[in-house]
Amino acid sequence: MKIKDIRTTRLSVPLNPPIADSTHVLDRIQWILVDVLTDEGLVGSSFMLTFDYGAELLLGIVDTELKKLVLGKDPRDITGIWETCYRHSEYIGQLGVAAWGIAAIDIALWDLLGKYLEAPVCQLLGSCREQVPAYGSGGWLSYSMDELLAEVNSYLQRGFKMVKMKVGSHDAARDVERVRAVRKLIGGKVHLMIDANQAWSPHQAIAFARQVQDQDIFWFEEPVAKDDLDGYCRVASSIDIPVATGEREFSLEAFRELLVRKGTAIVQPDALRIGGLTQYLKVVHLAEAFQRSVAPHFYKEIDIHVLAAIRNGLFIEYFPWLDDLLVQPLEISDGMAKVPKLPGFGFEFKAEAVKEYKL
Ligand SMILES: [Mg+2]
Repeated sequence: MKIKDIRTTRLSVPLNPPIADSTHVLDRIQWILVDVLTDEGLVGSSFMLTFDYGAELLLGIVDTELKKLVLGKDPRDITGIWETCYRHSEYIGQLGVAAWGIAAIDIALWDLLGKYLEAPVCQLLGSCREQVPAYGSGGWLSYSMDELLAEVNSYLQRGFKMVKMKVGSHDAARDVERVRAVRKLIGGKVHLMIDANQAWSPHQAIAFARQVQDQDIFWFEEPVAKDDLDGYCRVASSIDIPVATGEREFSLEAFRELLVRKGTAIVQPDALRIGGLTQYLKVVHLAEAFQRSVAPHFYKEIDIHVLAAIRNGLFIEYFPWLDDLLVQPLEISDGMAKVPKLPGFGFEFKAEAVKEYKL
């Protein structure tokens, strides 16, 4: 079997109304779909979530830079192809845009391998569970208090047992009030996580954590800037809430530093930024060696297969954005997502959605 083409498709889906966290205002989601086509008719698929950032660059790294390296190769040689793309990207830098491109191809190849072997990806990895807990994510800073509580309530109505909300605004007192209101709404049995999206200094993050430490916060995500490793160590050792981070990390070495220096309690790889499933698996096993749990960022259709096959997985992150675009969105009831039994990752974009939103 040989790779005969790689096809990219760019979708732009408006977000109405726009949403905001502490660092971004988002009015549309751009998805880049990547399909690896073979001479035997099998197709492996992946996708990238870019909002409105760098879509042209992400298309370019796949279409004009990496594609030429993989045409004609056997798609089952996943590590070999990863290595070829990684070595080729050394000159421009293997982190950032290159990592996204390498990842998009790598994930599509894992999907393809599952389809070739007629097995879900979690079985290729050695599955250990058929359901994975999912948390309802959102709680945007742009929401009014009513909108915030309505979103949380909708997650409760759907049976979610854990929710995450944004903090990190300029007005920390407002954030404290919102955290308390959400805790009051959800009661004592639902997990509550908070995410500052790197907005605060270590001093601000520590002060904030102390103000909400009686609210039983399950984790405090990205309290400070991602490159402030000293800051992470300081926050993690100063507060009683577990720190979580990792969605902006591009290398195994960055995770190793975070773990060696005890900068995080919970490891949050992003399947794309870390360079695909091949590299992601190394991160989750590295975390296990440090007795740390994994709660990956965003890509629930991919993450569910990893968490179904490792011992140290916590939860997948649920946003509703993909559900209308997929033929079979993940089935979630009582806060548990069913691991798809379809070959590969088991996601497929609806033809009519692609037609409607294609740029
Ligand atoms: Mg986050």
